[in-house]
Amino acid sequence: MAEILKGNAVTAAINDRTASAVEELKARGVSPTLCIVRVGERPDDLSYENGAVKRAVAVGVEVVKRAFPVDVSEDELIQAINEINTDCSIHGVLMFKPLPKHIYEARVCNALSPEKDMDGITDLSMAGVYAQKPLGYSPCTAQAVIELLDYYGIDLTGKNVTVIGRSLVIGKPVSMMLIKKNATVTVCHTKTRYLPAVCRRADILVAAAGKAGMVNSDFVHEGQTVIDVGINWSEEKQKIVGDVDFDSVSPIVSAITPVPGGVGGVTTSVLMSHVVEAAKKYAD
Ligand code: NAD
Repeated sequence: MAEILKGNAVTAAINDRTASAVEELKARGVSPTLCIVRVGERPDDLSYENGAVKRAVAVGVEVVKRAFPVDVSEDELIQAINEINTDCSIHGVLMFKPLPKHIYEARVCNALSPEKDMDGITDLSMAGVYAQKPLGYSPCTAQAVIELLDYYGIDLTGKNVTVIGRSLVIGKPVSMMLIKKNATVTVCHTKTRYLPAVCRRADILVAAAGKAGMVNSDFVHEGQTVIDVGINWSEEKQKIVGDVDFDSVSPIVSAITPVPGGVGGVTTSVLMSHVVEAAKKYAD
């Protein structure tokens, strides 16, 4: 049976570091503050927001919310972001996406100052991930994958890592971050041929496709580490499931993250660590 790479141990370690940094900053008169920008009331956003607020309270980060109706205009949203950019009491911003269709999302995202972009939504943050420069912040989920691998001491040097998914939120940035850690990375997507065979070749498989249970026993081999980033609602099981069919894969591989209880919770801890980093840069 595989080792279960639980997220809560990783989360606890990150939270400890974050909470200590918050104390130090507060002693210097700076209270790290996250602003959550939400348009509409999508259940997924509200659920993530609740989780983020709980995590913030746990580590001492302050949260302010800017919620807008779903018919907010692009100009109004950009004006709010401009205000946030110049508000010294706010150190970081989390803005939920996708934005409604009448809004040109890239324009709104890039209105945000990269130094307050806690989840890598600006082009400059993404350039930083690719150029390995601190131009903004990396997407929290992509970084959560790296934090989890680091925490469990999984060395990436020279390892073959296959990533399923090429989104700007996870697949692409995590691939860049894995390369930085000296892994040899293969990125798969909907047009990849012989996907199970490509995945079987990997030492470490990162699944971020958003397809419930698509990674089955054909995709894996003994000794593999499987990181499941997927968060999918299964109508059949009436619960949240990952991209990996845990029941058929876990008896074969050597280590695997559960869903829920794996990468998901680490994401909000990474978010808080970004806020503290931004507040520290401000304080310095
Ligand atoms: P996305 O839809 O933007 O991208 C999915 C990617 O997977 C695409 O690049 C697509 O080419 C690829 N893909 C889809 N089906 C495939 C298939 N059958 N074969 C091969 N490749 C396939 O999704 P995303 O935003 O990158 O999110 C991916 C998953 O991660 C979702 O389940 C999402 O809910 C989850 N997620 C988790 C967290 C977290 O905190 N753990 C955060 C964000 C997203």
